Amino acid sequence: MTNKEAFGLAKKYIPGGVDSPVRAFGSVGGEPFIVERGEGAYLVDIEGNRYLDFIQSWGPLIFGHCDPDIESAVIATAKKGLSFGAPSNLETRLAKLICDEFKNVEKVRFVSSGTEATMSAIRVARGFSGKDGLIKFEGCYHGHSDALLVKAGSGATTYGNASSGGVPADVVKNTYLARYNDIESVRAIFEANPGKIGALIIEPIAGNMGLVPADNEFLSELRRLCDQNGAVLIFDEVMSGFRASRHGSFEFNGIEADLVTFGKVIGGGCPAAAFGGKAAIMDCLSPEGAVYQAGTLSGNPVAMAAGIASLSKIFAD
Ligand SMILES: *Cc1c(COP(=O)(O)O)cnc(C)c1O
Repeated sequence: MTNKEAFGLAKKYIPGGVDSPVRAFGSVGGEPFIVERGEGAYLVDIEGNRYLDFIQSWGPLIFGHCDPDIESAVIATAKKGLSFGAPSNLETRLAKLICDEFKNVEKVRFVSSGTEATMSAIRVARGFSGKDGLIKFEGCYHGHSDALLVKAGSGATTYGNASSGGVPADVVKNTYLARYNDIESVRAIFEANPGKIGALIIEPIAGNMGLVPADNEFLSELRRLCDQNGAVLIFDEVMSGFRASRHGSFEFNGIEADLVTFGKVIGGGCPAAAFGGKAAIMDCLSPEGAVYQAGTLSGNPVAMAAGIASLSKIFAD
């Protein structure tokens, strides 16, 4: 089968032929090729063409395709069973690796995607603070959960408008949009909504509007505004975590968030993500606390093994 034939068939059964819209080549033109396998820095398609792969699965593959350490960890773990629905030591090992590295992360919970990590972090932040209002920034992407699919309204201090079909206006009415690196836009939201803002989420190094680092002064002022107003500061490090440095953004800004979200590199190419932070906040999660959050495949052993292998190599340097 040629790429064209295979993609035609995919389109018959899968909307747009892809399971994530960025794979449709929309911003680069042409049609997707269909992958047969990866090899280090290369992808090989079903026609045998080799491509130098600058995308690396959009972030997870920090060691390239088929890294031998990750591959052998995955194979050895898969032979012992693919999912248990009961705790395994692999979860504790990966959690400890993260908590030992990040002094503001005392506890973590694993999920299966970055979307789940940010969505759950916001839920626990709201549960902890007891306030529904959420501040996010134009240009930052935090996955595809309803409350986060918001584009600018008529101004940075207005409520957000949904930027996707199927997202009820009611769901985004507690999402307030601010402008990146513009502290006045944040201050205005806090001032106009006293006692209402329970969480603020930001990519401390924005990777989803080109590469835009946050000013350190801006971040430390965010830290101060959140403390002053009883809001939980969430750093979304799904992209920057374990990549910008072994700690993500911390080595550049020195700012400690209350909660941090991880994804991509943390799963070594398998579906794993996590959110973590101060124990006082994380202990609000069920079964310790009243904030419900769950997942059949959360902490999946194969994904944990891939994550342990991947982070161990990063931390060994
Ligand atoms: C990729 C990304 C997400 C979403 O992660 P998924 O695993 O695709 O759901 C969230 N936040 C940031 C910063 C990301 O880059």
